[in-house]
Amino acid sequence: AKKAGRGQYRFFDQSLNVTDAEAFHLEQAFPEALAKRQFVLHFQPQVCLETMRLSGFESLVRWQHPEFGLLYPDRFIDMAETTGLVIPMGLEVLRLTCEHLLLWRDEGLEVETVAVNVSPVQLTQPDFGATVLELLKSYGLQPRDLELEITETAVLDARAAEQIHILKNAGIVVSLDDFGTGYSGFAHLESVPVDKLKIDRSLIARISNSHDDSPIVSSTIILAKRMNLKVVAEGVETREQLVHLKVAGCDFAQGYHISRPIPADQVAGFIGKAVEA
Ligand code: C2E
Ligand code: CA
Ligand code: CA
Ligand code: CA
Repeated sequence: AKKAGRGQYRFFDQSLNVTDAEAFHLEQAFPEALAKRQFVLHFQPQVCLETMRLSGFESLVRWQHPEFGLLYPDRFIDMAETTGLVIPMGLEVLRLTCEHLLLWRDEGLEVETVAVNVSPVQLTQPDFGATVLELLKSYGLQPRDLELEITETAVLDARAAEQIHILKNAGIVVSLDDFGTGYSGFAHLESVPVDKLKIDRSLIARISNSHDDSPIVSSTIILAKRMNLKVVAEGVETREQLVHLKVAGCDFAQGYHISRPIPADQVAGFIGKAVEA
């Protein structure tokens, strides 16, 4: 043990070592996990605030690891991005999304769109746009069936911007995720036109009973509207937040108050249920 000051003893940083070892192990296991199709998707409902009806789902990746159980993206996304493994993983996520859409529609379930998260690493690949469009075609799906959620890092990259243009021109809805967390602001949006803004949950969390409004959230909604953007609020955890967002003119909401992300086999049950205000 090392002396860590003020009479405290700290054993060498075990958490760090465990994390490194885990990341290493997961990196080694990743290609086989892809081959064995161990990645699965959970789907979080998004509702239209005007009608309070389901508008679509966001797909969120998980790794069904044979030893460690269900792993959430915070355990492997960073590693997948630095190693480039996020490229084949992202393709698998797109395939899985298309497969689920087709299955639900076969069952007669009305699922209009599914939003898929795209890493900047994927988006800077010069063939990303073409790959997505070919994939949709091979499943017999339309560009309007899919939405892509991109981040600010991607918006600022010229190569990514090119792919965004290809996808948007084909009719795929593109949303800017985690809006309000970076340096963003609206200035960048003039160079890369997206269709939707997703207001980050850290901003939504400011809407509480005590402050009956969050000026940042309402101004963001007003500015977005001026730019003809649709607005999605993520991380909606309370009824108060939902009501405020509705009054402020937000178009869509997503969050634990409506539903946690659910496995594919629970989607039918969710569609059957009415969403309460
Ligand atoms: P994100 O895109 O911002 O996704 C929202 C995250 O917030 C999800 O975590 C979701 O489960 C969680 N969430 C949803 N509603 C609430 C709420 O009301 N309260 C709180 N506290 N959290 C809520 P998850 O599934 O662990 O995903 C984390 C991040 O991993 C995502 O953040 C996204 O950046 C990334 N990710 C997930 N799936 C994929 C994927 O297929 N590809 C890529 N590249 N990244 C992904
Ligand atoms: Ca997202
Ligand atoms: Ca987000
Ligand atoms: Ca986020």
